[in-house]
Amino acid sequence: MSLKPEQELHQIKKLYELLSPCFLCPLNCGARRLEGERGICNASQRVKISSYTLYKGEEPPLSGVNGSGAIFFSHCNLKCVYCQNFNFSQYGKGHFVSVRELSNIMLDLQSKRAANINLITATHYLPQVTAAIKIARDKGLAIPIVYNTSGYESVRVLRLLNGFVDVYLTDFRYAFNEHAVKYSSAPFYKEIAKEALIEMYKQVGNLKIGKDGTAVKGLIIRLLLFPNGLKELEKILEIISECVGNRVHISLMSQYVPVHRAKEYPEISRKVTKEEFLRASHLLRKFGFTNGWLQYG
Ligand code: SF4
Repeated sequence: MSLKPEQELHQIKKLYELLSPCFLCPLNCGARRLEGERGICNASQRVKISSYTLYKGEEPPLSGVNGSGAIFFSHCNLKCVYCQNFNFSQYGKGHFVSVRELSNIMLDLQSKRAANINLITATHYLPQVTAAIKIARDKGLAIPIVYNTSGYESVRVLRLLNGFVDVYLTDFRYAFNEHAVKYSSAPFYKEIAKEALIEMYKQVGNLKIGKDGTAVKGLIIRLLLFPNGLKELEKILEIISECVGNRVHISLMSQYVPVHRAKEYPEISRKVTKEEFLRASHLLRKFGFTNGWLQYG
């Protein structure tokens, strides 16, 4: 869906209204970011990125031939004890960019033939990010925008992304809220992620692939399998199936590694076994999910 300019500006303005006090994510911590306060995510009012690059490690329709145009944002509202990107997500490594510089990065990635612009954990910078998308689109940005998220998003914020995002690439990490609190400091994850999933699906529907084999629009749900996580996965599949049906594309991933602080939690302090992954793929079949990818290794 392409938005009219006045609608784009209206949505960007509404997002800026949520910046300070900040209610951009479901933690709703209310930090006065324009007055120098930092909230739970520790992001300031300025956008900070760790890096940007052509990235070939995403699902095939997202990587395309040349790679996805990945932009890794610094800071995060979740505090996952197993986060592989903790250097920039939790310790905030990176450098500041202005909105205009961010739009130039998007155009630069397009000129390098990126399949899309892949915004990796941008929730806490959404006013500036949508403003940058607008500037870049006005200057010729035409590749899809992928919103790569933990799934922990507010519906009212997602509604303001309608028309800016073409592909939602979302995790659904937890069905048991005690795990979400213990491992990610994310209260009410299940209910929040469920509502967010319904809204994302409403906006973009099932995945559509263009003639060149790359994703043009739609929803992809990533399921990171945890050690000892089969019971929770079953519950997650039940929720997904109830909320958006079983034609949706699922990316089941075995890539969990116990980095950062994961060793402090014995039950998640190892990799997933081959048998666990096989049983997880059987669960997908049991619920009738046939679209998507199994990523083992
Ligand atoms: S995005 Fe950051 S500052 Fe804003 S509500 Fe969430 S944790 Fe607080």
